Amino acid sequence: MAKVYPLFSGSKGNCYCITSGSNSILIDVGRSARQIEQSLKDNNIDILSIKGIFITHEHTDHMKGVRVLASKYRFPVYATQGTLSELDKMHQLVPDKFKSHIITDGTEIAGMTVRTFKTSHDCHESVGYTVETANQRKVTLVTDTGCITNDIRQSLRGSDVVIIESNHDVNMLLNGRYPYSLKRRILSNYGHISNDTCSKLLPDLVKEGTSRIVLAHLSKENNFPQLALQSARYSLQKENMKENIDYTMTVAKEIGDGSYIVF
Ligand SMILES: [Zn+2]
Ligand SMILES: [Zn+2]
Repeated sequence: MAKVYPLFSGSKGNCYCITSGSNSILIDVGRSARQIEQSLKDNNIDILSIKGIFITHEHTDHMKGVRVLASKYRFPVYATQGTLSELDKMHQLVPDKFKSHIITDGTEIAGMTVRTFKTSHDCHESVGYTVETANQRKVTLVTDTGCITNDIRQSLRGSDVVIIESNHDVNMLLNGRYPYSLKRRILSNYGHISNDTCSKLLPDLVKEGTSRIVLAHLSKENNFPQLALQSARYSLQKENMKENIDYTMTVAKEIGDGSYIVF
């Protein structure tokens, strides 16, 4: 049985733990090592079950804890070449203390197969991740992307669980207090996807077999969990898809509340 725990989500830090049998991996470690250690403890996940840390990109909300966690526990760190060299420039990698690896397509770790796909974001070489368990169950995580590219669309296909960004409500963002340049950045093809963009995609994912949806990386400033859920539900309802029958949907909390998704 595999489980995914949304431990942290949003601009203050992102971290997901995927467990399969007695092994685990972390995708992003965007909170302090201490907070992540505590969260794992609260969720009864043995930190020593972790076999690797996978980083989507070098923004702080995705890598804040990497240096301490990797040097303290000697976890290998996986990321693209572009992300690893940025982490290195930021002195987040300590090569003599732990190993960092350029992610290759189809990395086998802890009985899971991890694949990447490119995301469209304002950093060096960002990716999303697809993790497949030994019994062919598949979870896909896509956050921090300004648009849904063909590559992303292809990777989402046939995922049992989808963790997908639903960052902002466009009107809240436009009418909010962010400076114009930041609004423009978020709305660009290299920023973050809105509730609308996310919602429009969901019916097709459910048609392709996705039954569990997690809305993630919500903006605290420009979104509300209820608004993201409402937008997603409306889009699925229009296609006659019924919540808790055809799919289940949750919002990843800023600080995980102990809930997890079995897949
Ligand atoms: Zn982020
Ligand atoms: Zn980012």
